[in-house]
Amino acid sequence: MLIVQKYGGSSVATPERIKRVAKRVVDGYKAGNKMVVVVSAMGDTTDELIDLMKKVTSKPVEREVDMLLSTGEQISIALLSMAINDLGCKVISLTGAQAGVKTNNVHNKAKIIDINVQRLQSELNKGNIVVVAGFQGVSEKNEITTLGRGGSDTSAVALAAALKADLCEIYTDVDGVYTADPRVVPDASKLKYVSHDEMLEFASLGAQVLHPRSVELAKLYNMPIAVRSSFDFNTDGTIVQEVSNMEKELVVSGVAYDDNVARIGLYDVPDKPGIASKIFRALANKNIDVDMIIQSAVRNNVNDISFTIARDDLQKALSVVEEIQDKVGFSRYAHDEDVSKVSIIGSGMVSNPGVAATMFEALADEGINIEMITTSEIKVSCVVKSRHAVQAVRAIHKKFELDAIS
Ligand code: ADP
Ligand code: ASP
Ligand code: MG
Repeated sequence: MLIVQKYGGSSVATPERIKRVAKRVVDGYKAGNKMVVVVSAMGDTTDELIDLMKKVTSKPVEREVDMLLSTGEQISIALLSMAINDLGCKVISLTGAQAGVKTNNVHNKAKIIDINVQRLQSELNKGNIVVVAGFQGVSEKNEITTLGRGGSDTSAVALAAALKADLCEIYTDVDGVYTADPRVVPDASKLKYVSHDEMLEFASLGAQVLHPRSVELAKLYNMPIAVRSSFDFNTDGTIVQEVSNMEKELVVSGVAYDDNVARIGLYDVPDKPGIASKIFRALANKNIDVDMIIQSAVRNNVNDISFTIARDDLQKALSVVEEIQDKVGFSRYAHDEDVSKVSIIGSGMVSNPGVAATMFEALADEGINIEMITTSEIKVSCVVKSRHAVQAVRAIHKKFELDAIS
């Protein structure tokens, strides 16, 4: 079998853990498998690099951010390869570029567009275990890029798809995907299976456990992912796979929340064709992803538009808004950084009316005000004040009795 394994930051945080991972990889290799191993930066290295950067500059050049952040993963690949070598196995470490990971030119949140597997294949054919730096690639302009926070998952799934691997295992500090973040809801239940579509919502709506783009790729290439614990190799994790193989479909399979949210409101926006396109094109041109958009009812030929973006993008978005104010003609704008998005996910929602109402009741019972709402076939999201987010997640989890899933 060809197995791609990915070990997250906490799984390689210390020399002892790196040695444990090495042993795990070697076990797989000695069992006769071809092994490709993707690793993240050790522990909080990426955060530490960002702190360091902030001490040097408040306006980092995006290219140099990638140059800096990509070093974290390079430490891990070298050390893990040394540890594997000590166990007597043939091994080679490769950076993203050496492994053929080609991305677009968008620094800091690049997308993988192709993987040239030649080098990887030839190393595997020589009998090497191949250790690849996650989270990074090389752009069409031959620059080092990174894939956005948490992007090593995406490196692993992309490599698994490109190599047509038999198995893609993501080892992390939890033993699977739960009905809510187990750090926030201690009695959350572990899901044995979750569909790609649901997992994509979980990930996009703030459940850190998998990077959204990794799930998108897994769905596209119909690649199952096993999410497992790197602290206890003996527990079964969660299998993310296509619906047809699922055991059962839950009405609501979980609750997620996202703190990386900010809201911008534009007031007295002229109510005529072409206005929304001007606003959102300008934001898109700066690679700012807009999430929820709400337009109020018209009064005197004007209305208000509010939208949410990642809090990380707030300064960039505010400068776009300021730039277009005269051209678009709104009278003023405001922003709120103190908001979070709380969501429920479930593919059974579509055929069960009243699910959204139950969620709103859970919030009402806690006296939590809902500022914005969006729905789709398999999710409902509410924007609330950040200080209420955790309380909201717990109340909703309880209301849907998600602690009782077996
Ligand atoms: P890694 O460094 O291995 O990539 P991450 O910190 O990125 O690990 O992701 C694992 C974390 O995701 C867990 O520690 C957990 O707190 C968080 N998490 C959020 N939502 C969920 C969920 N629904 N199920 C499991 N873990 C979750
Ligand atoms: N080291 C990167 C991060 O912390 C990538 C990853 O861990 O997946 O975001
Ligand atoms: Mg992660």
